[in-house]
Amino acid sequence: VAVIPTGKNAINGSYKDHPILLANYQGEQYAIIGISLSTEAGEEDFTLNLSSGENVIIRFQVEAKTYTEQHLNITNNRQVNPNAEDMVRINRERNEMDNAFSSWDDSLVPIFEMYPPVDGVRSSSFGLRRFFNGQARNPHSGMDIAADEGAPIYAPAPGKILATGNYFFNGNTIILDHGHGLISLYCHMNTIDVEVGALVNTGDQIGKVGQTGRVTGPHLHWSINLNNTRVDPALFLAD
Ligand code: ZN
Repeated sequence: VAVIPTGKNAINGSYKDHPILLANYQGEQYAIIGISLSTEAGEEDFTLNLSSGENVIIRFQVEAKTYTEQHLNITNNRQVNPNAEDMVRINRERNEMDNAFSSWDDSLVPIFEMYPPVDGVRSSSFGLRRFFNGQARNPHSGMDIAADEGAPIYAPAPGKILATGNYFFNGNTIILDHGHGLISLYCHMNTIDVEVGALVNTGDQIGKVGQTGRVTGPHLHWSINLNNTRVDPALFLAD
């Protein structure tokens, strides 16, 4: 996540065609931008729109970071090499989730200090380069917290339930909108305890830990999105 003082009082901004979160802190405006794991090291830029109608381009540098490898064994081979029918479902679900992550809600005020959504052991961190049954797959786009099946999952910050569903890889899933493109995702749940459209506060129970979808045991996969980009949830934990 890039946190960049804008030196301006912009009304909005964008990075790679997605609106970006602008926040004020101690009288200064900051752009808070999610940088994709696939971004190459080098110069990036974003655009600010000022109330005068003027556009300003701000440049910043992204440095290289290498994440460690993780090797996992999945007994259901279809979850590693899905068949043609599965791929139709996977692509449809990817579009659904992409649409949800592109959502922009101005009525919600994002809070950046979050509480862990589950009381458990962090079993996998963000960014791990993953191999399933020896085959390279997408890097880990969230944080895994291991807990017993049925353990409560709490909203880590206030928000609005944007979508729920049962997905091929993610199992029972909730997408929670915190406003201005800050959106969190909860996967592999045993039960979903909220309805789409519900407003939740920090600490409200939204579901229970399970092992639905592609898993090696019960845990919560928690991810955070900014400007439709998966970023490290650990950066948002209050501790
Ligand atoms: Zn995970």
